[in-house]
Amino acid sequence: MFQQARACNLTKGDIDQLASALGERLDYSPGTPIEPIVEKLGGEIRFRELDEWLDDDSIEVYGPGQFRIFLLNVAGVLRNRFTIAHELGHYFLHSRIGEVPIKVNRSGSDRVEWEANWFAAGFLMPEQPFREAVKRDSSPAYLSAVFMVSVEAAMVRKKVLGLA
Ligand SMILES: [Zn+2]
Repeated sequence: MFQQARACNLTKGDIDQLASALGERLDYSPGTPIEPIVEKLGGEIRFRELDEWLDDDSIEVYGPGQFRIFLLNVAGVLRNRFTIAHELGHYFLHSRIGEVPIKVNRSGSDRVEWEANWFAAGFLMPEQPFREAVKRDSSPAYLSAVFMVSVEAAMVRKKVLGLA
């Protein structure tokens, strides 16, 4: 039933802006829990135990507003937040909001995975709020706490926006 996920081929900048705009439209405030957003979209999050771990983190999209995100139970909160945002990227960019039924894990094509990562960064760390936060305190520890992302993700974001 699933089709192969194909890259949307939007530019990195366009995906970044799209993710931030979607976050705003969905009333996502940076640093707050992302699970309610999944719920709002009609999706479901399933945790798997390590011993039933066959696939990597993944998403299955069945139709519009019908999808499941699979996470590893033992992964940390910050890692899971990034993964959820990444899987939402697949939902918006690659299933086109459920139009194309897809199942994606990390063995997907590189471009598809990159696009989902760009989406995740733009969603969790929207450019404007991120720039404002950097003006207050540019330390990765502070940015990590404000946006609830890993220190590494905050550092990459600074670099991408030319703030590092
Ligand atoms: Zn992925």
